[in-house]
Amino acid sequence: MTRSHIVLLIIIAVLIGAFFYSDLQQLLTLETLKAKHQALLAYTNAHPVKATIFYALIYIATTALSLPGGALLTLAGGALFGLLWGTLIVSFASSIGATLAFLAARFLFRDLVKAKFAERIKAVDEGMARDGAYYLFTLRLVPVFPFFVINLVMGLTAITTRTFYWISQLGMLPGTVVYINAGTQLAKIDTLSGIFSPALLASFALLGLFPLITRKVVSAFQAKQIYKKWAEPDKFDTNLVVIGAGAAGLVAAYIAAAVKARVTLVEKHKMGGECLNTGCVPSKAFIRSTKLLAQFHRAAEFGINGIKADFDFAGIMERVQRVIETVAPHDSAQRYRELGVDVIKGSARIISPWAVEITTPEGTRTLTTRSIIIATGSRPFVPAIPGLENIDYLTSDTIWNLREQPRRLLVLGGGPIGCELAQAFARLGTQVIQVEKAPRLLTREDAEVSTTIMEKFSQEGIDVRLEHTAKQFLAEKDEHILIAEYRGQEVRIVFDRLLLAIGRTANTTGFGLEDIGVELAPGHTVRVDEFQSTNYPNIFACGDVAGPYQFTHTAAHQAWYASVNALFGSFNKFRTDYSVIPWATFTDPEVAHVGLNEQDAREQGVAYEVSIYNIDDLDRAIADSAAHGFVKVLTPPGKDKILGVTIVGQHAGDVIAEFVLAMKHGISLNDILRTIHIYPTMAEANKYAAGVWKRRHQPETLLKWIARLHAWRRG
Ligand SMILES: Cc1cc2nc3c(=O)[nH]c(=O)nc-3n(C[C@H](O)[C@H](O)[C@H](O)COP(=O)(O)OP(=O)(O)OC[C@H]3O[C@@H](n4cnc5c(N)ncnc54)[C@H](O)[C@@H]3O)c2cc1C
Repeated sequence: MTRSHIVLLIIIAVLIGAFFYSDLQQLLTLETLKAKHQALLAYTNAHPVKATIFYALIYIATTALSLPGGALLTLAGGALFGLLWGTLIVSFASSIGATLAFLAARFLFRDLVKAKFAERIKAVDEGMARDGAYYLFTLRLVPVFPFFVINLVMGLTAITTRTFYWISQLGMLPGTVVYINAGTQLAKIDTLSGIFSPALLASFALLGLFPLITRKVVSAFQAKQIYKKWAEPDKFDTNLVVIGAGAAGLVAAYIAAAVKARVTLVEKHKMGGECLNTGCVPSKAFIRSTKLLAQFHRAAEFGINGIKADFDFAGIMERVQRVIETVAPHDSAQRYRELGVDVIKGSARIISPWAVEITTPEGTRTLTTRSIIIATGSRPFVPAIPGLENIDYLTSDTIWNLREQPRRLLVLGGGPIGCELAQAFARLGTQVIQVEKAPRLLTREDAEVSTTIMEKFSQEGIDVRLEHTAKQFLAEKDEHILIAEYRGQEVRIVFDRLLLAIGRTANTTGFGLEDIGVELAPGHTVRVDEFQSTNYPNIFACGDVAGPYQFTHTAAHQAWYASVNALFGSFNKFRTDYSVIPWATFTDPEVAHVGLNEQDAREQGVAYEVSIYNIDDLDRAIADSAAHGFVKVLTPPGKDKILGVTIVGQHAGDVIAEFVLAMKHGISLNDILRTIHIYPTMAEANKYAAGVWKRRHQPETLLKWIARLHAWRRG
């Protein structure tokens, strides 16, 4: 809390205290109002402007300070100013007062609540962004919800002040009219509670639900509108057409077949998509060979002499292909057909919300379908840098065709793919220059992760050029040159082969999306809602084409939601759960990540504390001569709940699984500490990280007393 927070709190506390200490609250009773009615009325008639200002200020102060007496003041408004003026004055005064209370709550507590309940408040904020105005309107209309509670609670959410004000004014209006009207007949009122009959309360509740119901009806209407120009078939050939047989499409089709839907999976290239053919599988197979070679080079360190580590680049690349072939049956058309999926090798094109045209070597046919899932993946991003067109550049799609090892490889990009491949090639003896325009590698990770990887890369001879922006490529006779800008200076970097690794672009064109008007998001991915649905409620998207993550496991995760919502959405829909998303970068050492890291926490304003266990102390890591890296855990201050974990070290991608499970199922650091971990394993690092947290939070006073007890027992 800052000084201004404390000052405001004190002012509010003093004012509220003064109200209760003085006799003011005694005045705000029905009996007093009735007794003083004629005198107040006479004053109001004699000094209408003064009386209005005075009354409005009292009303605003009462509501702003959340003091009791609002209902009585409203009655007084009717009794003194009549139905029209009374309603007008109270409507503005109550809205201004409510907004002041709302702003005070926001100023005093929003950051605090956000820091303490980051995940929950995020979900609430998302809900408020979507439906906040409707919820507020309903709450305002139904007079059973205390107004001051609504003001304070709304201040803790992300609803805008303007929305809060005008929705409040609108929503409170009917209730205000009822009270003001009652006030005009003050003499007839015996109790405040009698003003609202159960029937009136019920009709207000119905009125309150009206906007929510209207909203549902409007969105159903909008959904119908989008289909207006299409003729819906009477019958459908299939329940679901899935376009693309990568990680997302395969899982979507699998789920559909498992629940006995008729599903058609269309793939125009290779079953398994990017992960199997040009992504995870080849890259990990390649990395394995290069890691083995790096280990051979360290053989003497392990007491093994005389190892001659010769290799054949083409042989390594052939092994990569063999690995792909070995894994391929998991994703094969035959396997999926056996699972009940109708697999078609061909190119799909959406021609209407219910029809997909499929072109195969045998010809073109059209399938009608109830739902469609777009799982068309992404492709390497090729930047518009002058001169690039004259370079025979490589991407993650084409690099696996290499059989001749590059002598000097320029890797453009310092993200996960760039880093994994830069290190792998460097380990084979290729002279690697890695160019990144940011001031560090792996910018999604915390700074010390980048530093650790950077140090390792420097040790392994990779020439990492940070803050270098590629400006132009020159193709000269025997070599190529990149002209980059580094802190205002022009730098020339000579290379033989170029690998572009600066991101991936979603595949959204050329298969009908633009023709039928499927909307795209700003990042050029297909725009989907929280149910993976596009602007056509029966067309869904998942995987790289939908984003925001570009991982095989997130593609598969989204695919479950897309498939279930596509098939059963008319009965019940499921929101994609992004609460615990892990990932790993398979450099050596590996970098694994789940939940928040420090930079995420700072960005989101989440309060945290950090517990770090350095792996150089871990017995297993020492035994393996892999004693480097760390486990870094973020927790809310003083609590053992896990907010996020980053692990850098050997097998980090596997070791983090315990934390992923813990976060998903609310398992705490204390729970991890209480769990037996096999000795000696890398996973013990998780327990030791929990131990770091525990030591910092041990009950010092209690321990002092226990020490005294032991001393006393020693005599
Ligand atoms: C080098 C590299 C390493 C990676 N390593 C990892 C890793 O270690 N771990 C990880 O989780 N992720 C990794 N990824 C990312 C991962 O590969 C992708 O996130 C994942 O493959 C995306 O799956 P997808 O199903 O969305 O798309 P894809 O696998 O790209 O599948 C889309 C499919 O749709 C087909 N298609 C497109 N249009 C049509 C059409 N009109 N008709 C019919 N078929 C069509 C395509 O041919 C393709 O087969 C890596 C990526 C790369 C490039």
